[in-house]
Amino acid sequence: MSKFHLKNGDLTVYALACGYMQKHSANNIETTLYHEGCLFHVRSYNFVEHKRIAWESFESIGEARKEYRRQCKNATINMEKLVQEYINCGGVFCPFCQSNELSTHNVEFNEGVATQDVSCNDCQKHWTDTYTLLSVQCRTGF
Ligand SMILES: [Zn+2]
Repeated sequence: MSKFHLKNGDLTVYALACGYMQKHSANNIETTLYHEGCLFHVRSYNFVEHKRIAWESFESIGEARKEYRRQCKNATINMEKLVQEYINCGGVFCPFCQSNELSTHNVEFNEGVATQDVSCNDCQKHWTDTYTLLSVQCRTGF
């Protein structure tokens, strides 16, 4: 077994004690697990809004890992919620920073599905929207 990683990819206590940090990023939120001053710290930070979301300290690595997973999961759920809001509003605001300075490119049609690449001019993120064929209106009369 590696000195630094457990089988599941987690950093070992040894690695943490050496100053390594375990990191997870989702939805502009970075969650870190690290060791400092005899304690294990779990911190979530929104690096776009520069805002701390959570910071917990534990004496036991088991408790710290549990909290780390909880915070990672929260960040991911948050992202799904933002994407749903983005879809509900018709894709007019950036799901990451809420800017309406979006650029679209490369619209492609493919058997009832269209995709378009979108990028945000404010936070520089980019993603692909998918559209499906919704209805047909005959313009020559049925
Ligand atoms: Zn943005």
